[in-house]
Amino acid sequence: MTAVAGRSIPVIVPALGEEEAQAAAAAVRSGWVAQGPRVAEFERAFAADAGAGHGVAVTSCTTALHLALVVLGVGPGDEVVVPSLSFIATANAVRYVGATPVFADVDLLSGNLTPETIDVVRTRRTKAVIAVHQGGVPADVDALRAVCAGWGMALVEDAACAAGSTVRGRPASAGALLAAWSFHPRKVITTGEGGMVTTDDPDFATRLRRLREHGMSVSAAERHASAQPVLESYLETGFNYRMTDIQAAVGLVQLRKLAALVARRRELAANYHRLLADLPGVHPVRDPSYGTSNFQSFWVLLERANRDEALAALASARISARRGIMAAHLEPAYRGVASTRLPNTERLTRDSLILPLYHDMTDSEQEYVVDVLRAACA
Ligand SMILES: *Cc1c(COP(=O)(O)O)cnc(C)c1O
Repeated sequence: MTAVAGRSIPVIVPALGEEEAQAAAAAVRSGWVAQGPRVAEFERAFAADAGAGHGVAVTSCTTALHLALVVLGVGPGDEVVVPSLSFIATANAVRYVGATPVFADVDLLSGNLTPETIDVVRTRRTKAVIAVHQGGVPADVDALRAVCAGWGMALVEDAACAAGSTVRGRPASAGALLAAWSFHPRKVITTGEGGMVTTDDPDFATRLRRLREHGMSVSAAERHASAQPVLESYLETGFNYRMTDIQAAVGLVQLRKLAALVARRRELAANYHRLLADLPGVHPVRDPSYGTSNFQSFWVLLERANRDEALAALASARISARRGIMAAHLEPAYRGVASTRLPNTERLTRDSLILPLYHDMTDSEQEYVVDVLRAACA
C-alpha cells in the first residue's frame, strides 16, 4: 500500500474558494457588515431551498435550537426527548431553557430516533422532542411528526448536518414545525459560524426575529432604512444571536454550490461502498429506505475490530478519521441523566468511526484509506 504523495488526508475540507472571498470582501466594502440586506437575502434563499416558508438566520445551530425551544414555551418542569447520540449542543439547548433532557435510543442503522425509541421514554411531562438527522442521514420525519402530533408533543428537527438530504423526495426538514441548521465548517456548507431556524409558521418567524435581536420591536436594519426616526421598544427578554452580512454573503455563494457538493459527496460515498464491500465486519452508513443522505459524516460500524486501534492505525498513516458520533449521556456534563438503557447508542459511539470525505478527494486517496482500514481490521 502506498501513501498518497506524502500528503495527509483530512476528515473534511470546507469547499471555500475565490468566489466566497470576493463576496465577503464586497460586504466589507459596502460598509454594512452587521445583520442587513445580505442576511435577509440568505434567509429567503435558504428557506426556499429547504422547502420552508421562513428562515431566520442566527449565530449557530446551538442558538437556533435554543430559540426554537423558547418560542415553543418549553421551560422548567418540562421534559424534552433527545437522542444521546448527537453533538452535545442538542441536549444543552434543553438545559438553556431550564427543561430536562430525556435520552432516547436510536436506530442502529440510521443513528436516529424512531417512534418506538421515543415511546419508551416519554412521560406526561414530555413537552417536545428534538429529532436529529444524524450525520446527514435523514430521520423519518413523516413517522415522527405523526406520533408526536398524536402524543401532543412539539417536534423540533435538528437539521445541523442535513442541508441537501431528502425524505421521500423532499428536502429533509421541509414542512417542519421548527428546524435548526448549522453553517459550521464541519458541515456541508459553511459561513464560518452560523445557523438558521426554518418554519412555515409566520408567528414563530416574527417572534424568532425579535428574540435574536434583543427582543426589539423594530430591527436595527429597518430603523436604519427608514427616512423618519423609528423608536424601538423591547417587548421581551431577547438575545444577541444575529448573523453578520459578511457571513451571509459567504453563505449565499455556498448555497449555490450545495447541490453540486451533495452530488459529489454521494459519488464519493458510493465509491466507499464499492471499496468496502469486501471488508467483512465493516458496515458503512447507507441511505435509509425513505430518503437520501448528504453523507455529511460517512461512518463505518466495526463488528469485530477495535475502533480505537483502527483510529490509531489511520492516524499513523496520516489519515485524519474521527471517532463516531458522541453520546451525551457518557460525558461528565450528563452523567447519571439517562433513565433507560441505550444499547444502540453505546454500540454506535464505541464501535464506529468517521472516514475522510471531502469534495476534492481523489479515488486513490479513498483507496488508500480503505487499504489502511483493511489492514487494521484484519
Ligand atoms: C454541529 C451540530 C450542532 C451544533 O451546530 P453549531 O452551529 O456548531 O452550533 C448541533 N447539532 C448537531 C446534530 C450537530 O451536528
